[in-house]
Amino acid sequence: MKLIPLPAFTDNYIWMLHDGRRALVVDPGDSQPVLEALQREGLELQGILVTHHHDDHTGGVDALRNATSAKVYGPEREAMPEPIQRQADGSSVRLVGLDFQVIAVPGHTAGHIAYYAQIDNHAPVLFCGDTLFSGGCGRLFEGTADQMQASLRRLSVLPDATRVCCAHEYTLSNLKFAREVEPDNLQLTAYQHQCLTLRESGQPTLPSTIKIERQINPFLRSEQPTIVASANRFDATGTAQHGAFATLRQWKNQYR
Ligand code: ZN
Ligand code: FE
Repeated sequence: MKLIPLPAFTDNYIWMLHDGRRALVVDPGDSQPVLEALQREGLELQGILVTHHHDDHTGGVDALRNATSAKVYGPEREAMPEPIQRQADGSSVRLVGLDFQVIAVPGHTAGHIAYYAQIDNHAPVLFCGDTLFSGGCGRLFEGTADQMQASLRRLSVLPDATRVCCAHEYTLSNLKFAREVEPDNLQLTAYQHQCLTLRESGQPTLPSTIKIERQINPFLRSEQPTIVASANRFDATGTAQHGAFATLRQWKNQYR
C-alpha cells in the first residue's frame, strides 16, 4: 500500500492510497493532479472519500466520477456533488481491500467526517480533512468549540502510530502559534526544526502521527497547566470564560 499526498491549489493535499493497481483519493478539490497521478502510476480509481462540503475538497469530484468508474462516499448531511453514498458515524466503507471506519467529527463544518483504516503490515491511516491539522485544528465555521474538542478527542485516542493525513499544509504556521502557547515543550521545538527542514527542501510535513500530535498539538493538550496558564494570560479580562480550548481557538484566529 502506498500513501501519496498530491499537492493542489496553494496548500491543499489530495491524499491517494493505492496497492499498485487500485487507488482511492480523499477530498479531490481538483481533478487534474489525480488524473495525472493515475496515468503516471497506471492505476484504476476505485473510490473517492469526501470529508466535508467545502469546494477545495469537492471541486474535482464530478470530473473524476465522469472520467473513471469511481464510487463517491461522503457525509450524511452536507451538500455534496451527487450521486454520492452517504455515510453515518460508525459505518464503514470498503475500498482497495481496506475497511474505512467513518468517524463523525463536527466543528469545522456541521457534518464533517473522518475515515480511519488499519492496514496489514503498515501503520493505520486517518483521513481527517480540515478537523485535525499537524499542530492545529480547523476553524469553527459551523460548529462550537465544544464540538471540535469532542471530535479531536475521538481522533486522539486512535493508535499512536496512526498516520494523520490532513488536507492542508498548515504545519509551520500552526507550530509558530503552538510555541507561543507552550514555549517550554522540547518535543515541540524539535518537531518544528524537523518540519522547517522538510519545507526548506520542498517536502510535505505530512503525514504526522497521533503520537506526535498528542505531544505537540496545543488543541489536544488544552488541559496541560502551561497551556491553561497561557490561555488565561491571553484572556486576561476573562471575557471568554469558555475554557482553555475555546480561548486557544479564538487566539489562533487572530494570531499572525
Ligand atoms: Zn474546509
Ligand atoms: Fe480545506
